[in-house]
Amino acid sequence: MEIIVCIKQVPDSASVKIDPETNTLMRQGVPAIVNPFDMHALEAALQLKEIHGGTITVVTMGPPQATEALRECVALGADKGVLVSDRAFGGSDTLATSYTLASAVRKLGKYDLIICGMQAIDGDTAQVGPSMAEQLEIAQLTFVSKVEINGDTVTVQREQDECYEVVEAKLPLLMTVVRSINDPRFPNVKGIMKAKKAKFDEFGLADLDVDETRLGLKGSPTKVSKIFSPPKRSDTVVIKKDTAKEAVAELITRLKDAKIV
Ligand SMILES: Cc1cc2nc3c(=O)[nH]c(=O)nc-3n(C[C@H](O)[C@H](O)[C@H](O)COP(=O)(O)OP(=O)(O)OC[C@H]3O[C@@H](n4cnc5c(N)ncnc54)[C@H](O)[C@@H]3O)c2cc1C
Repeated sequence: MEIIVCIKQVPDSASVKIDPETNTLMRQGVPAIVNPFDMHALEAALQLKEIHGGTITVVTMGPPQATEALRECVALGADKGVLVSDRAFGGSDTLATSYTLASAVRKLGKYDLIICGMQAIDGDTAQVGPSMAEQLEIAQLTFVSKVEINGDTVTVQREQDECYEVVEAKLPLLMTVVRSINDPRFPNVKGIMKAKKAKFDEFGLADLDVDETRLGLKGSPTKVSKIFSPPKRSDTVVIKKDTAKEAVAELITRLKDAKIV
């Protein structure tokens, strides 16, 4: 089975700051990690490979330093990695990102399954996976928390707000996974040594069969007009008591005093 896993290198969310002048993320000096949802996507691929055999290719679109994210995935067991990188791709919104990634997937040729995380912890839109599926004209199964493959039939459990949904579809398809699907493994020494020496393919503008007007900032129909952190509220009161019962009693007294209840 040929599996492609799309991974995004993201700033460690606890450290993200926003430039108030430009409304963009300040990435300099901020540690980068593989988007946590994508670690679950890779783990799902590794478990499927253990059952069905095949090859796992990780694909990331980003600056040259995103190869470190690919290396991390090879250390965990991915077979190959592709960096999709070019100045022409900079400033892409989700539509331009998914268009570029779908073009990279087409260039890779035959695949059975594409796995994405449910969302990236910086952009948070959860649009890239579904949009890629649409552009590749394949089925999509989103919010997957369990997967089983028999022949070319994929059966998944989809996480909903208050229930699970069981859905079946045929390969090839794209799925996006939620955190509860698995517990990502840790790399072993053999994997780390392999990753150190790994070489990655690089796809730039010249390598992809793309319409240049659909790439990067110019090819992005969405524009970020403002991005900001909500102001910190200074009127928060923490009620500390020995028991929950005492805390609730104190809360009710205060709410009554404030004539809220
Ligand atoms: C006008 C505009 C300008 C922007 N300019 C920039 C910019 O200059 N620099 C910048 O970093 N961001 C920029 N962004 C944000 C950028 O569009 C998103 O970060 C990107 O499209 C992915 O969307 P997301 O983070 O919401 O991913 P989601 O849709 O939440 O991600 C879902 C899944 O898709 C896959 N995925 C997402 N992105 C990638 C990727 N790059 N490679 C491989 N797999 C991926 C992963 O599996 C991920 O778990 C800009 C956005 C807009 C609207």
